[in-house]
Amino acid sequence: MSKHTHSFQAEVAQLLHLVTHSLYSNKEIFLRELISNASDACDKLRFEALHNAALYEDAPKLEVRLSFDKDARTLTISDNGIGMSEQEAIDHLGTIAKSGTKEFMGKLSGDQKADAQLIGQFGVGFYSGFIVADRITVESRRAGLSAEAGVRWVSGGTGDFEVESILREQRGTSVVLHLREDALEYANGWKLKEIVGKYSDHISLPILMEKEEWKEGENEQPGQMIKTGEWETINQATALWTRAKKDITAEQYQAFYQAISHDFEAPLSWSHNRVEGGTEYTQLLYLPAHAPHDLWNRERKGGLKLYVKRVFIMDEAEALLPGYLRFVKGVVDSADLPLNVSRELLQESRDVKAIREGNTRRVLAMLEDLARREVPAADASEEDKADAGKFGKFYAEFGAMLKEGLGEDFGNRERIAKLLRFASTASDQASVSFADYKARMKEGQEAIYYITADTLAAARNSPQLEVFKKKGIEVLLMSDRVDEWALNFLHDFDGTPLQSVAKGAVDLGKLQDEAEKKAAEEAAEAFKPLLAKLKEALKDRVEDVRVTTRLVDSPACLVVQDAGMSMQLARLLKQAGQQAPQVKPVLEVNPEHPLVKKLDGSVHFHDLAHILFDQALLAEGGLPEDPAAYVKRVNALLA
Ligand code: ADP
Ligand code: MG
Repeated sequence: MSKHTHSFQAEVAQLLHLVTHSLYSNKEIFLRELISNASDACDKLRFEALHNAALYEDAPKLEVRLSFDKDARTLTISDNGIGMSEQEAIDHLGTIAKSGTKEFMGKLSGDQKADAQLIGQFGVGFYSGFIVADRITVESRRAGLSAEAGVRWVSGGTGDFEVESILREQRGTSVVLHLREDALEYANGWKLKEIVGKYSDHISLPILMEKEEWKEGENEQPGQMIKTGEWETINQATALWTRAKKDITAEQYQAFYQAISHDFEAPLSWSHNRVEGGTEYTQLLYLPAHAPHDLWNRERKGGLKLYVKRVFIMDEAEALLPGYLRFVKGVVDSADLPLNVSRELLQESRDVKAIREGNTRRVLAMLEDLARREVPAADASEEDKADAGKFGKFYAEFGAMLKEGLGEDFGNRERIAKLLRFASTASDQASVSFADYKARMKEGQEAIYYITADTLAAARNSPQLEVFKKKGIEVLLMSDRVDEWALNFLHDFDGTPLQSVAKGAVDLGKLQDEAEKKAAEEAAEAFKPLLAKLKEALKDRVEDVRVTTRLVDSPACLVVQDAGMSMQLARLLKQAGQQAPQVKPVLEVNPEHPLVKKLDGSVHFHDLAHILFDQALLAEGGLPEDPAAYVKRVNALLA
């Protein structure tokens, strides 16, 4: 068949331009990407061969080979994995299937190191070959197809690529890099070994390279390395998690993390265990130090890599962890699951349930360890001291996600609650735990008070806090979107009820003295006629009107009935385009406030009543339903 020229998809062309122009100072990552593709191809073959052993042909031993030719200036990465058909080569090496590419382009920072990491993270790895090559030739034959179905793909990494069919006996893929002038250092055995050791040591597949020997020069000629024709394995070639803990260094654990997560920062901690008795499996779990760019993307999957008896089965096996722990990275290798397990089967498997529970316990224990060492004592061990500050770092990135666990993981609710941290009226930092709060509770205080708002500033300045501030009672300030929802599932902490200061009537209980209680009762009595008039004026907007003791400086505030949905949650639902029930709040007025005192008998009573309501709405971060009407009313009074 003849050659055909194809154009790259526009995104690929753009990406290639970026790759070759912005990543030249961190060239060596190309090898990690190409070896990782070779390794993926072998995983795919192994997986397909589970149902069709004939795919192995007569070469069941899967491997990657590196070879270079200094004179021809080429470096070749070959594998005997699944290979590609002609159409697959056109599709996979000419387009980018993933929607993340555009986002990738936007994320490029100009910082080459970070940008280079992004390449791996977004799965555009193959094109990184063009950092070091001005031409790439790929030859491939898909497992199961005949030698005539071979394909050659060639491109200079600009606008287009050529494809032709070739005769190719060997199954799998060879990627030949025609090295650029400034990348000739990669046609060197030492250099390649060094990079493989750095990035690809843990790859469970052997990576082979032809052995070289030093040969002295004759007749005053310089000596040189001569290939011996013998191939040697240059990586460890055992899956890291199958090795004994004591034989694995911290650097190796970190390198493995970076390889599976494409995260350039080191993980905060990890936990590696062989679990026996009942369901048997190995878990290697990592806590990342920072959230990936698309953590909150709904389509993003979490989960771990699943292996069964060391055979790779799938990425992002969500069933192995509850959703609120989707930030965890790692590997589970099960001894019990069948090799042909599917995502559907995973959902139902009892072994998987046991693994998920085991993983959950382990992750919570890791977090508890970090929380305990957050501020180490002076006499703490060096190991403990090394963990100082890590929990705060973790929490800033993933705390909101952890809160989802209150609703999702009933069995671990208490453990999760202990790990939560909040800002409060006594602390600027989001570092107050429920236990810290309890330890500071006032004599006679019977509840843990909290307020939720759209922003921390709105929470901190809410009129509803006035009486608490006056009495020096701490209130937890919550402004994560998930707070309101999550707190629905937590009614108490360690026996002390949680009480929203924006829900129901304030009951300060024993914190109020007799005189205050009496004054409040008298005010309620004296204000009865005014309250009735207000209720009549605002009857479409409020559920009820009552006097309150929670306000000091403000004339009024809005609260919801005890069991009701808060105004903030209703707003969030509306913003998210969801059906939210109409929430009619209760208007509470401050009987001590001059404005409220003046209300009765005013000729502007109707307007003042609405202004009072709208201002209370503004104060808690809401907006008047009819802002123009509000402005008109205020102006009428000002004039
Ligand atoms: P990713 O590996 O994240 O899918 P890459 O850009 O690295 O992205 O590779 C693109 C695609 O090209 C792969 O998904 C695969 O289908 C195909 N491919 C690349 N290298 C090989 C290989 N050595 N063998 C078979 N297919 C390959
Ligand atoms: Mg890849």
